[in-house]
Formats: sequence, C-alpha cells, structure tokens
Amino acid sequence: MSLPAPQMDHSEQSSPEYVRLSLAAAMTLDLAPGIFYRGARLGCINLLLTYPGGCKANCSFCGLARDNRVRRGDPRYEKFIRVAWRAWPLDEVLQRCATAPDWVERVCISMITHRRSVADTIDICAQVRQRTGLPVSVLIAPTLTNREDLEAMRRAGADRVGVAIDAGTPELFEQLRGKPVKGPHQWGRYWQVFDDAVGVFGRGMAGVHLIYGLGERERDIIGKIDRARRLGGCTHLFCFFPERFSRLADRPQPPASGYRRVQMARWLIDNDLTRAEHMTFDQQGRVLEFGVSAEVYEQALASGRPFMTSGCAGASGEVACNRPYGNEKPGPDLRNYPFMPEPEDIELIRSQICQY
Ligand code: SF4
Repeated sequence: MSLPAPQMDHSEQSSPEYVRLSLAAAMTLDLAPGIFYRGARLGCINLLLTYPGGCKANCSFCGLARDNRVRRGDPRYEKFIRVAWRAWPLDEVLQRCATAPDWVERVCISMITHRRSVADTIDICAQVRQRTGLPVSVLIAPTLTNREDLEAMRRAGADRVGVAIDAGTPELFEQLRGKPVKGPHQWGRYWQVFDDAVGVFGRGMAGVHLIYGLGERERDIIGKIDRARRLGGCTHLFCFFPERFSRLADRPQPPASGYRRVQMARWLIDNDLTRAEHMTFDQQGRVLEFGVSAEVYEQALASGRPFMTSGCAGASGEVACNRPYGNEKPGPDLRNYPFMPEPEDIELIRSQICQY
C-alpha cells in the first residue's frame, strides 16, 4: 500500500488558538497552492476544531474516528471528507478571511466530540463575527450541545446551524455511531437537538446533514429529508465516500443513479413542491414518481439546481457552502456540483436518474 507524503503533524496544536482548514479553504485563503477543477470557487471557509487526542467519538464512516488512529498509525495521515485538514493559527485565518475573495460569503465552525468544543465554538464564533463580519454557521456536536449552548452560539453571532445526523435510519445510526462501535451518539438526542436548533435559530436556519450510501434505501433517507422539512429545517446532502482507514474504507461509493433521485427528492421537498407521502417507490425502496407534474420535474431537472451542493446560504441567497469535491475526486463523476451544471452535465444526469 502506498501512502501520500506526510503533512505537517498538527496533533499537538489545539483550539481555540488553532483551527484546521480544508485543503479547499486553505487554497482559497492563499495558504496552499492549487487550482480547482473546472474553476470551482469555494463560498464558505470551513473551520474544524482540533485538540490533542482528537475526537472522542468513533463513527464508522468518519476519517476522524477514535479507532482510526490505531489503523492509520501516523497522525499525519488523518483525513476528513477526503482531504487532509492542516492546522493554522486562528489569528492568521481570521486575517485572511477578512480579506477573502468576494465569493466567500460564510464561515462554518465544525465541532468535534470533545469537552472543550462548545466553549471554543462560542469563542471562535464571536471572533469571526468581530474580525470578518462574515455570517457564521455552527456544525454542532449534539451529544455535547444543549439548548442553552445553542442560545449562547446565537448570541455570539451565529445565524445558522447544522446537525450531522448522517445516517438515514435509527438502526444504521446505532450500528455506525452508537454502542456497537463504542460511540457515544444517540439518534433521539440528535433529532431533539435539531428541533431545539430550529427553535433557537428560526425556521429555515437549521439543516441536517444526511449521507446517502450507508446502507439505507432511497425511501428511508427521503423520509428523513421530509422529517427535517416538517420540523422547520432543510437537508444538506452528502454522497458516501470511503475514507481511508475508517471502518467503512472498503465499502464502495454508491452508484450515481440512486443519489440523483435522492438529490431530486431533496430539492423538491425543501422547496415545498412535494412530500415523501406523495412519492411512489418500488419494492427496493427506489423512487418511481416524485409526486409532481411532468412539467415541474422537467423544469427542475433542466435547471440542474437539484444536483448542486446543498448547504448553508450566503448573503446572495445562493448556497455558500458548496464544498468542492468533498464527495468525490475531481473528475467527470461528480456527485455534488459545486457550480451550475453545464448542458453536458445535465445530459449525463438525465441518463443517470432513470437507471435502476
Ligand atoms: S452545510 Fe456547510 S456551512 Fe452549513 S453547517 Fe453544514 S458544513 Fe457548515
């Protein structure tokens, strides 16, 4: 097995003085060289809290999981959403965010499961607001975060919140994130905290993260997208990508066809054009009809919008958190388009969405 060249060892650097940046964010802030495939532009600087010893949870699909450290050995090989996240001094990151290109419309602070995460998120959120003026999302760790914490994050200046439920069924959640893998997370608590987040941040200002391809049926995940909408939120969708050294490192990425149907369903549900109960499914839980007219379906497909990355919006009202190539390697097999799909992309999507 060949391994990539080691990155800097960030394992002893700690928030709030340090935060980790995705490669895309480091490139956007001129901290790392590189160009984006097809000229994509990152609209949200994603910050990840970091602590010696790392995340205390053990989710099977996550590159940061506690047990991965044993499997990968060297901490410098740690990856999250496909890429290495190097730690940088917060002061330097904030200076660069304050003069970031004008397509950067948001900052997101991602917690990990660590006892200092809540206090540090509040502290960093206030600093980002004061020094950059950019809107801030918080991607919270619900196991550690209660309603009072959400209120404190809002007072510190956050305007949106993400809750990474990730798994599309309670059984998968338990199996991949709960007791069977010696993890602390609980399905019921995640949904309760999401409900609290809508209460604190307002309708439309909280989103769940869901990952397609963890072993659920299309019908299962669409039911949770619908649940999030009924609770007053929306869904930010991800397509499973096998993280090196994770428990699911050998699970293949799901075919594009099912993901296209789930993307279409999400877009229609989050735009209040259909509901899960109006849709029809085959015996394997795959979508047959979306519960909208042929005209609405065709307009949605031809627009390409359902297949763009779903995430927190910026001041323009368009999605800022477009996470270029966080779900796949840059190349022709894109799952979340970080830009408006071109006519040739739409033709590819049109052929994929009707494959069973
Ligand atoms: S969609 Fe993006 S900005 Fe919003 S909470 Fe999730 S990671 Fe953060």
